[in-house]
Amino acid sequence: MADGLYPLEFPARLTGPLAVTRVTVVPMDAERVLPDHTVIVEDGRIRALAPSAQIDVGDAVIVDGSQRWLMPGLADMHVHYHDPAEFALHLANGVTTVRNMWGAPLHLALRQKVERGELPGPRMVTTSPIVDGPGADGRTIWPGSTLLDDPSEAERLVRRYAERGYQQIKAYSWLSRESLHALGRAAAAAGVRITGHCPNGITFEEAIAAGMSCFEHLTGIAEGHLRDGFALPDVKDPERLVNLDTLRATSEGIDFDAVRRLGAQMAAAQVWNCPTLVVYQQMSQDRAAAMADPRLRYVPPARIRSWDPANDFRLQSVASAWDEWLDATQARIRAFKRVLSILHEEGAPLLVGTDTPNPFVFQGFAVHDELANFVDAGMRPYEALRCATVEPARFLGESTEWGTVEQGKRADLLLLSANPLNDVGALRAPEAVLVNGFHFTGADLARLLEQRATSVRTAAPLPSVALGGVGEGVQVVREGTLVERVSDGEVGCVAYRHLHLPDGRWIVEERYANGVERSRRTSRLSLRADLTVERAEYERETTLGEERCELAWSDAGRYEVRLRDVDGAELRFEHDGPALVPSEQLAFTVMPLLIARAPAGADRVEALSIDGGEPRVAAVAWSPAASPAEDELAAVARIMRHGQRTEQHYRVHRDGALLALEQVTWMGRRELVAST
Ligand SMILES: [Zn+2]
Repeated sequence: MADGLYPLEFPARLTGPLAVTRVTVVPMDAERVLPDHTVIVEDGRIRALAPSAQIDVGDAVIVDGSQRWLMPGLADMHVHYHDPAEFALHLANGVTTVRNMWGAPLHLALRQKVERGELPGPRMVTTSPIVDGPGADGRTIWPGSTLLDDPSEAERLVRRYAERGYQQIKAYSWLSRESLHALGRAAAAAGVRITGHCPNGITFEEAIAAGMSCFEHLTGIAEGHLRDGFALPDVKDPERLVNLDTLRATSEGIDFDAVRRLGAQMAAAQVWNCPTLVVYQQMSQDRAAAMADPRLRYVPPARIRSWDPANDFRLQSVASAWDEWLDATQARIRAFKRVLSILHEEGAPLLVGTDTPNPFVFQGFAVHDELANFVDAGMRPYEALRCATVEPARFLGESTEWGTVEQGKRADLLLLSANPLNDVGALRAPEAVLVNGFHFTGADLARLLEQRATSVRTAAPLPSVALGGVGEGVQVVREGTLVERVSDGEVGCVAYRHLHLPDGRWIVEERYANGVERSRRTSRLSLRADLTVERAEYERETTLGEERCELAWSDAGRYEVRLRDVDGAELRFEHDGPALVPSEQLAFTVMPLLIARAPAGADRVEALSIDGGEPRVAAVAWSPAASPAEDELAAVARIMRHGQRTEQHYRVHRDGALLALEQVTWMGRRELVAST
């Protein structure tokens, strides 16, 4: 999209060599410093590193490093990062590498932008989409995860993700034992790691045997490691991850001797942990204190609203015992800190990660909070810093590329005003950051942060949703615009038009702009007189590029889809089966059409969706609800897709126009309301 690709300005990439002179290098290859050295970087690499007296800086741009320390850039090994503009927050905090933990094509596109030097950084490694099993209600924990309920599907899934460019497979809590083992075999064959939550009811030992080689958040570490008299809730308890019984059993009952044996095993097998203690801390703060955090100025209002526990689906079950839950969470943090020190003492490999942007886990900034946790757990600053530099590089198999200050390695470097080996606090607000061939002075970084704060405060206007003209002889049956709100904040706008052609076919056109994602989708459905989909196409403009998708009913009697994804990948899919009506996922305004024109007595139908280019069948059922006004209809639609269930409340004018649509999403209550 032309407007606001990256709404922040940043310095151009360096065009020649740059020398940091007379600096104390903290190489991170050992606990040592190299005083009065000069480092020459060129084209994003460290070209030379030597005592200042022995080096000729030639015509390099000089950065005076006297009284300064130079160390490798930091890696945050557990982030969720969707908005490219947030690069500012990472870089201003010295984070030059991130591992994104719920991959989507936009992350593949973002990674490319950084590789091409169009965006300075941080460099990105991304896992696959979340692969989860079905909970008791058949759903994955997070809407939008990939459901793996048939272990025989694991191989195809892993192969597809690996080929697509996702570097690791993200496993989640509801995976069955059989599915985890199948994923493990598939991942070994494809040469990718499985990382994520140790699934419910499975011990770390068994998950390791199945092939998991990195665990996030210490989730489930109490399984099989409780002292006598303590027990975790039933495996299928839907609230198992957050409920008080889990927290209490973990904090009071965890068997630290068993954890020590596990730590020794993980050291021997080189199995990793990314404990993300900061996410537990930030989510369990006193609300008033959390809302007074000055870092909120860098967070978009829509996200702050989603951070309200009242809007967080994960916390609904504990809302009634909030204070007790906070206490229990604090106790578990103390237990986990002890687990972290035991893992460290046993030599189990560890990674610094934050799980930003979970509530009050601030992008970039949070990595310093987590480093402080590592120190608090008994590590020397050097040991903690290794877990954000050398160790992540080793974990990713990129030790020859980055992680230390060494000739030939990437020049992703931080210039600091104090020695980080004395205090990791020296890393907050670096004096300069070199990344990917870019050089940010302290003033550049401050300007980036200021720009970010301004762009968050003054949201850019939504792109136009105006639709094009209508052809001759075409009857516009209805048209309108809808405003999208999430948790009462306005985030988007939809314009739509339903056309009826002389031959009985329907055209549904929609243009939808979303201000949170800064994206715009234009869709056009061509429906037969019986409302089955003949053709559907959409084009999605994002800050990272365009996605274009065409689906058509073919002469061979099936749907064929061609997708050009946001990262440029060309994909094709097919779907055999009868022609289907469109689901709500193809267009917001089709449900009223379906409801209004369904044969008498019909209240369920199989409908077509496209998910990342893949055609999917959704079971849609609806039931009437009390009508708010005489000329209106109300209905509740329940939409079931593989592992997902959505409930949408519709208010429809008797002429078929959509008046309001409401649903509860993980971002909070979402509604589309006809604008007057
Ligand atoms: Zn996460």
